[in-house]
Amino acid sequence: MELDRYNAPLIFGTADCQGFGVNNTFYVVELALKAGKKCEPNCFLFRPSVSYNELSKKDKTTVYWLTNYYHGLPYDLGFRGVSQDEVVDKVIQWYKLNMIVEKPYVGVMNQEMEKILLKAGIPYVICRGGEGSFLPTTKELMTFGSQALCKSPFRTCGFHVKKPETSLIRTCAVKKSMYLWHWLQTVGLPQVFGIKTDDQKLSNSFALYFCDDKNN
Ligand SMILES: [Zn+2]
Repeated sequence: MELDRYNAPLIFGTADCQGFGVNNTFYVVELALKAGKKCEPNCFLFRPSVSYNELSKKDKTTVYWLTNYYHGLPYDLGFRGVSQDEVVDKVIQWYKLNMIVEKPYVGVMNQEMEKILLKAGIPYVICRGGEGSFLPTTKELMTFGSQALCKSPFRTCGFHVKKPETSLIRTCAVKKSMYLWHWLQTVGLPQVFGIKTDDQKLSNSFALYFCDDKNN
């Protein structure tokens, strides 16, 4: 479904995942599912189906780059025995538990997460911005989250390694799902309430939407 500002209320939750695109496959390592305003995102860890030692030299370089310069997740973070087969099951379970009949859609930015939702048969709305779109790019979402939402920005969940020589800001599925959820409740809805989107008014629109949101 295409998203406009008016149908943002149809979204009951947001989802994001991070992992490794190696061995011609995308392996989920971190899955974050955020439903409604009440809870923090649920975070699940998985282990790639192929062991690190079996990867090609090129794939090992990719893993190194992702762990050290992008999301900061170790390749073997997930518990042994928690395999990729469970990713779709986990998402379906979460959807059944949290979906609201009047709000059946999941908001998603990440293309890998889209594929998982498609596989799970769950309806979703692509919230990926670009030129001329009111939707945010990942960079804009991060700026929004850290400036407008939190006084002390939530950096990542605790699973991301920190190395002093590289950036401390990591791409975290928990953070992205949370920021996207809040973005949809505030910036995504200003036309509905006729609210201006300058930073000063953001907190007002946030409160106004939630007051109206009896089901959630
Ligand atoms: Zn994380």
